Amino acid sequence: MQAALTQQLLDGLIAPAGASAPIARAAWAIGEEVAGPAADDVDRESRFPSEAVDELKRRRLLSAMIPEALGGAGASLAEVAGGVRALAAHCASTALVLAMHSIEVSNLVRHGRTDAFDDLMREIASEQLLLANANSEVGVGGDVGRSICALEETAHGLQLKKEALAISYGEYADAIVATARRNAEAAETDQVQAVCRKPALELEPISTWDAMGLRGTCSRGFRLVAKVDPDLVYPVPFAVIASTGGLQAGMILLSSVWVGIAEAAAAKAHSTVRAAARKSPGALPSSAMRLAELAAQLQQARSLLATSVARYTAVDGSEQMEDPAFISELRNLKVSTSELAVRITTAALTICGIAGYKRDTPISLDRHIRDAHGGLVMVSNERYLQANAQLLVARKRL
Ligand SMILES: Cc1cc2nc3c(=O)[nH]c(=O)nc-3n(C[C@H](O)[C@H](O)[C@H](O)COP(=O)(O)OP(=O)(O)OC[C@H]3O[C@@H](n4cnc5c(N)ncnc54)[C@H](O)[C@@H]3O)c2cc1C
Repeated sequence: MQAALTQQLLDGLIAPAGASAPIARAAWAIGEEVAGPAADDVDRESRFPSEAVDELKRRRLLSAMIPEALGGAGASLAEVAGGVRALAAHCASTALVLAMHSIEVSNLVRHGRTDAFDDLMREIASEQLLLANANSEVGVGGDVGRSICALEETAHGLQLKKEALAISYGEYADAIVATARRNAEAAETDQVQAVCRKPALELEPISTWDAMGLRGTCSRGFRLVAKVDPDLVYPVPFAVIASTGGLQAGMILLSSVWVGIAEAAAAKAHSTVRAAARKSPGALPSSAMRLAELAAQLQQARSLLATSVARYTAVDGSEQMEDPAFISELRNLKVSTSELAVRITTAALTICGIAGYKRDTPISLDRHIRDAHGGLVMVSNERYLQANAQLLVARKRL
């Protein structure tokens, strides 16, 4: 099983349509038929990739990880990571939507063990509900282990008011999962996480999303005001949700996007070099050396992802999931794959030349290069390196 998973993740991107994993295969088909053809328009207009997300729903990928008993497919994180990666090769914004939604589903499966959460999972499966997230906050930035806002008891029940720094596809989601202090008296770090459902929530935009890349995620800032169902507040603290798998699943799913972007750019570089080789049989094109360098970097990115997914699968359900060394490895995964994606997309530009630089050619790298940079800031790499630096100073071994 483990060997098969690793093989699926290491399979070259050139033919993932033939991948044995059904989710990766379905995601690749959505990418090829719907998300890819719409990607340039989504990027140009900075619009939600609604046609691709409709297709994710039609193929029931939004409930992939929900247990079969509740109407889902009972898929593993590894399988969904394969799907995210396949989709990212065609449209990184759509892949990121699936990744962010799946982080929330993964948390639900892990911690939503009450009747109300079971009902919610059944509904996600039957209606293909889309979940968004509002963890980051104006004033704390990406330091999501702290909240300024709080769940407050009012005459009309539990209420949450939050100045959310960014809620990707907030306007298009059916529910938004948000962190907050447990109550008005609680410390900044005493957080819970609640599922805020439409129509009992209002979103007032407080910023725009005219971003360098990942433009289809529509990650505007919002003032969120929600009436919260007490049964949809997770029964465990947010710190537990994060440390027992939430953080880990998040880093793997996001890294799958960065690897998929890198693979798409690498595939364009590869086809360029092969076309040059066909033109002068017997002579190695000068760009082939650059391709060989790029392939070494791509192998690093793929291997890092495959190793982390294998390790996650091995420790899932055990205390080792919370091992600080493992969490530190996953931070390295996210930092390394996002940096490699920037390097690989840029290296591909050197190989593809002017046809890659132009925006209207089949081998344009414009969108890939801009999207890849989003990985550096989507939870700042500096923040992750700082956390790892603190751990390394305290640890006796590397
Ligand atoms: C495409 C995209 C989609 C997003 N979608 C969502 C979403 O759906 N929901 C959501 O809640 N958030 C979302 N975010 C926000 C994201 O999760 C981070 O919170 C956000 O990118 C961090 O913003 P920041 O760089 O301003 O803040 P910070 O993380 O505060 O960092 C600012 C800068 O300060 C420095 N810095 C900060 N802390 C440290 C530290 N400890 N050590 C060293 N340097 C440090 C770094 O140089 C960093 O670049 C999204 C972001 C992006 C880019």
